[in-house]
Amino acid sequence: MDKREFLKLSGVVAAGAVVAPALTFCGQAPKKEENSEGEGQKAIVFELPALPYAFDALEPNIDARTMEIHHDKHHAGYTKKLNAALESQMSFQGKSIEDILSALDGSDAQDKLRNNAGGYYNHCMFWEIMAPSAGGAPTGMIGDAIAASFGSYEAFKSEFAKEASSVFGSGWAWLCKNSSGDLIITSTPNQDNPLMSHIAEEVATPLMGIDVWEHAYYLNYQNKRGDYIDNFFNVINWDQVAKNLSNA
Ligand code: MN
Repeated sequence: MDKREFLKLSGVVAAGAVVAPALTFCGQAPKKEENSEGEGQKAIVFELPALPYAFDALEPNIDARTMEIHHDKHHAGYTKKLNAALESQMSFQGKSIEDILSALDGSDAQDKLRNNAGGYYNHCMFWEIMAPSAGGAPTGMIGDAIAASFGSYEAFKSEFAKEASSVFGSGWAWLCKNSSGDLIITSTPNQDNPLMSHIAEEVATPLMGIDVWEHAYYLNYQNKRGDYIDNFFNVINWDQVAKNLSNA
């Protein structure tokens, strides 16, 4: 689903529910709106984006049941808890998800917001950077950028798989563009990500990432995280990664 379809969807939802709060999605700055009864401003809430393909679209690399639970339960949970956390974090209200992430200070008081804002953003990106009939070596601008930064696609694959395998416990491995314009590979624990400029060891703009929490693969792969990582390369949506590079 591209940004235009997101906007269309959000418009349909908002038009159909007069008293519902304003909705916002990843990558979209929230807007405050007057409510119909003139009682000030509607709450700003983040919305779970629809999965841009069917639950079984990534099989056999990622099974349908895993995708269904991952999106409908885990991502839905982060979305709900993000909105709940924002109720008591006034200074973050009205900010885009990216601005929230970069403003987090790492204090205990922001733990719930950090975990759930990260979980919200990371999964929005994760669904988009995968697609059916995708994967393989990238071509065009993103293929050139990967070759320039890592030597070759095979060298990139090897380094990315190593980083993802090395995450201790739950977390993410990322392909990012850093402030020097180079592509880098990094990882973050839990639901952190490299946009968390006061928290992440390497601050950069994520282009794509792999979720290595057990909930992302355990039903099908059990303890074989390495097999899940190997098969992830079969579903990378390089067209979306190229768009993310253009926008970074
Ligand atoms: Mn996950």
